[in-house]
Amino acid sequence: MALFGKIENLETPGDNIKEDMETEKVKVLIIGSGPAGYTAAIYAARANLSPVMYEGMQPGGQLTTTTEVENFPGYPKGITGPEMMTDLKEQAARFGTDIRFGYASGADFSQRPFKVTVDANKVIEAESVIIATGATAKYLGLEDEQKYAGSGVSACATCDGFFYRGKTVGVVGGGDTAAEEAMYLAGLAEKVYLIVRRDELRASKVMQQRVIDTPNIEILWKHQTLGLFGNGVVEGATLVKNKGEEDEEEVKVEMDGFFLAIGHSPNSDIFKDYLNTDDVGYIQTEANTSKTNVEGVFACGDVMDNQYRQAITAAGSGCKAAMDAERFLSEQ
Ligand code: FAD
Ligand code: NAP
Repeated sequence: MALFGKIENLETPGDNIKEDMETEKVKVLIIGSGPAGYTAAIYAARANLSPVMYEGMQPGGQLTTTTEVENFPGYPKGITGPEMMTDLKEQAARFGTDIRFGYASGADFSQRPFKVTVDANKVIEAESVIIATGATAKYLGLEDEQKYAGSGVSACATCDGFFYRGKTVGVVGGGDTAAEEAMYLAGLAEKVYLIVRRDELRASKVMQQRVIDTPNIEILWKHQTLGLFGNGVVEGATLVKNKGEEDEEEVKVEMDGFFLAIGHSPNSDIFKDYLNTDDVGYIQTEANTSKTNVEGVFACGDVMDNQYRQAITAAGSGCKAAMDAERFLSEQ
């Protein structure tokens, strides 16, 4: 799996625009090429807004790191993530989206036109900006997470839980996400191990109780993951119990799936000087719209959604962002 690190600290927002940089004026700039960005592009292009899209370091977004996508409406037999993203790209290009490789390295939203630096060497002056930069699931940083990516390692229970019906899975984390993922998986799998590094959960009390009340979830307190094992696919995890204590012990736990639920990082760093975000960094938008606190700047998909984080919800919000941008521009 192409684990996608956040693009951060490449530039300091706003102060990286140099006078001698090439400048280009565009009507609508779309940053990011996941389901949200491409859907925004399809709608914006069909509204004659001549959108320009920068794909970022992960053209096609998170779905390019997965195999089967079975829950996106319209594909009764399922489709692979890369295929779906190729289709979306083709559809966006068909209506005239100018799709370019490159990443947004800085932004200045202090006045219109908005300025976005691309690849730290070009400035796009945009009448409106649609941010669709997604969020990145956090991983433990083990080599085995990459080795077994798509072969038992996942960071999305809603996406991949179905493949573990009647099987045994592990979920790492002790927050609300881990609790939710564990309960979701408990409805599908025969057995769920919740791997918690401390002797308490960070999750809210109500979620903790639900986990404790679920008979097929077993909490492995004070366990940390050392690695995974299996012949081509995950067959188990090697854990360390009571790390650093006298009774520290290495244990092997058999499992078919290993789910990370230790949080996500929204890719919003370069916009934070101008846009309101929550504590984690998700861009805040006006209720039921894609409008940020800066008029003319819109956000869609996982970068503004800490709840659902699904391809279909990202696509839906991309549609909203393009429609909001179209209305904004027609009012100018
Ligand atoms: P993303 O898909 O994350 O795309 C973000 C885009 O922004 C990327 O193109 C990236 O290159 C670009 N970008 C980031 N920073 C910059 C920058 N500075 N400049 C320019 N571009 C930038 N959902 C489902 O509904 N069904 C599934 O089966 C499913 N399976 C999944 C499997 C895996 C392994 C993962 C990780 C996720 C899965 N999801 C699934 C979740 C789904 O992929 C996401 O909800 C969805 O991709 C979010 O779309 P997005 O457009 O908001 O962002
Ligand atoms: P979180 O609250 O930051 O919890 C992350 C969990 O992962 C913590 O238990 C943490 O352990 C653990 N963790 C982090 N790094 C780890 C590592 N390297 N190894 C092992 N464990 C590690 O993140 P979250 O659960 O994604 O929640 C984010 C926010 O969304 C929270 O505010 C949460 O309340 C909210 N949320 C709410 C709901 C809901 O209300 N239904 C659902 C999901 C999320 P420690 O506890 O030891 O630090």
